Amino acid sequence: MALGRRQFIRIGAAAAGGAAVASGLTTRWWGLDRSPVPDPGTDGERVVASYCELCFWGCGIRAHVRDGRVTKITGNPEHPLSRGMLCPRGAGATGLLYDPDRLKRPLVRRARRGEDVFEEVSWDAALNEVASRLEAVEKRHGREAVALFTHGSGGVWFKHFMKAWGSPNVGAPSYAQCRGPREAAFTVTYGTPLGSPEPIDIANARAITLIGSHLGENMHNTQVQELAEAIGKGAGLVVVDPRFSVAAGKARYWLPVKPGTDIALLLAWMNVLVAEKLYDVEYVAKYTQGFEELRRHVEDRTPEWAYPITGIRPELIRASARFIGGARPASLVHPGRHTVWYGDDTQRERAMAILAALLGSWGRRGGYLTFSKFPLPAFPLPADLPHHGSAAVADRPKAGGYPLATEVLASGLCDATKPGHALYDLKAWIVYGCNLVQAMPGRPELVEKMQHLDFMAVVDVLPAEIAGWADVVLPEATYLERDDDVSAPPYKRPFVAIRQEVVPPMYDAKPGWWIAKELASRVGLGAWFPWKDAKDYVRTRLAQKGLSYEELARKGVLLGAPAPTCEEEGAPVGAATESGKIVLYSEELKGLGFDPLPTYTPQEEGPAGSFRLLSGRAPLHTFGRTTNNRLLAEPYPENEVWLNADAARGLPGFEDRPLANGEKVVLVNQDGVRSNPVRAKLTQRIRGDCVFLVHGWGQTARRQRYAYGRGASDAQLTTRYKVDPIMGGTGMNVNFVRVVRAGEAA
Ligand code: SF4
Repeated sequence: MALGRRQFIRIGAAAAGGAAVASGLTTRWWGLDRSPVPDPGTDGERVVASYCELCFWGCGIRAHVRDGRVTKITGNPEHPLSRGMLCPRGAGATGLLYDPDRLKRPLVRRARRGEDVFEEVSWDAALNEVASRLEAVEKRHGREAVALFTHGSGGVWFKHFMKAWGSPNVGAPSYAQCRGPREAAFTVTYGTPLGSPEPIDIANARAITLIGSHLGENMHNTQVQELAEAIGKGAGLVVVDPRFSVAAGKARYWLPVKPGTDIALLLAWMNVLVAEKLYDVEYVAKYTQGFEELRRHVEDRTPEWAYPITGIRPELIRASARFIGGARPASLVHPGRHTVWYGDDTQRERAMAILAALLGSWGRRGGYLTFSKFPLPAFPLPADLPHHGSAAVADRPKAGGYPLATEVLASGLCDATKPGHALYDLKAWIVYGCNLVQAMPGRPELVEKMQHLDFMAVVDVLPAEIAGWADVVLPEATYLERDDDVSAPPYKRPFVAIRQEVVPPMYDAKPGWWIAKELASRVGLGAWFPWKDAKDYVRTRLAQKGLSYEELARKGVLLGAPAPTCEEEGAPVGAATESGKIVLYSEELKGLGFDPLPTYTPQEEGPAGSFRLLSGRAPLHTFGRTTNNRLLAEPYPENEVWLNADAARGLPGFEDRPLANGEKVVLVNQDGVRSNPVRAKLTQRIRGDCVFLVHGWGQTARRQRYAYGRGASDAQLTTRYKVDPIMGGTGMNVNFVRVVRAGEAA
């Protein structure tokens, strides 16, 4: 069902003036929900189909070009992820393209690492420098001493470079610093990680449970559209969040849980479902194993038991459990995305996965679906990639560490950069499109580790903080200026979408495919980059299936044959586990020394007078990737710290003059680290024991002239983290801050 523009907008609009928009933005930010504003004439003389990269959802776009400039960007109605609509960030992409602070030419460091002194050089000089420095590392320490950090579609070229080069050390913070615990938990329970987009059927759910997932502020386009659709059809929301999020504003039940106690709430919900036989008895008997152990495990985990732990009254726990159970199997427990909170995150996600099984929602309409992938072969290489030995990935502290990690741990790669690692030390980093300074916890340690490197190259569009630490900075063209590989993630209806150059690269920026290919030829690996360019690469991949490049380029997307996605459509319910059953009680976890069923363990409390620091998203921004975007800054210029208005009245140090709404404060964490001054948002929409910041602000990169110094950085205040022993994720909600008036000593 297609959504009306207004229906879609309603979801996001409650937050910070954010909204999803069906038509594009020009260099002015026109009224968001006021369609009659006259169009300033932005329809292009040329319209180019591509897919967006203002976040990594990959919505299909149509970019309008007039007089050589991109004038607006609209959603491609044929593309299954955008369905004709974009979120505000996607529509505001011209703010990135025409950002005056973009990296314009290659840079080479001319001072100590960390001192922002660079010289502009030619591409030849920059790439020769990268090649010779990598070869020097190889000579002294081996090929595996080079690591790649990557995020984003263009990373595919550099991953291929690493395969040819011969190092297994390729990681993305989007795993151990984001969705890793979820992937490990669902792999234990169902035999498969979830990936992105998550295989969930929000549109057809009758109950949608969000635990710490603030969909609507987290603007993953299709999911927000489906949320609006589901609410329009009468679905009820259950929102578990210490903050009254946008989604909470739409919810039938809001459970303002005490941070760190979600597992207790999940166990109490299971207790009610089992005790009142609200779970799917037949489904559980047929498809799961370990129910009896689960039943005994939750027998005494009553709502009364959970109340003093979670702060949620027993009658609210019961009522919400009955609502969730009453809607099964179309009762969706959203798995969340940013799941690294307290170090026991795989177990929390396990509890969510088990709850989904009790509801019989795995494999059913309105629950978890089976997605399929467009069958597109890889580019045929003329020969096998060179074999350089079989060095283990250096991301674990010891063999067998974090046994259920399903991807490489970026934090582990950082650790392996400090001399004395159990396996071997990393000596060179290539960092593609990810600002590790904001993404990783423990900034002082990160800085120390970077000082041990022989060499670091950064490939990026903007001069993010990480670029300031590089030895060579390579300016990449924005996604509107480059061809790339296709996007073909598993989805309800398989599809393949094209990324193509809308306008030629500005300045001296180059596309990622070109940079990787040029680098490969300089280190003797040119044979493994046989394509002429990215167009040739994509054309060859498509030709193997008899598909026309021209047709894909024109339409932007090709759809594959529909396949059944759920039991109601004929897809079998099942798990890809060893037994073929959904694992409630995990012998695997037990064998590894972990709890076979999720158990609640109290979290450490903060010092008196402090607040637990929580972070999240705003609909107008993708973390630090968009904070310098002047278009998006107009409606959301910087973050503010959410602080409970009652708690603010009792703040120590404010006895003489109470803190006013909008006044600037400084956050000081348990280790004495101070944030930038940030405005206080005094509100009843958050519990009194925590504060909330939108992630990505508080930039320290001076070359991003708009973002520099604006707002406060939760990453800077995250000097502590708790590592998940099961999969190595870095739980970051374990920091506490005091609030002091800006300009006053702590
Ligand atoms: Fe772009 Fe928004 Fe889609 Fe992300 S969700 S890809 S920013 S339009």
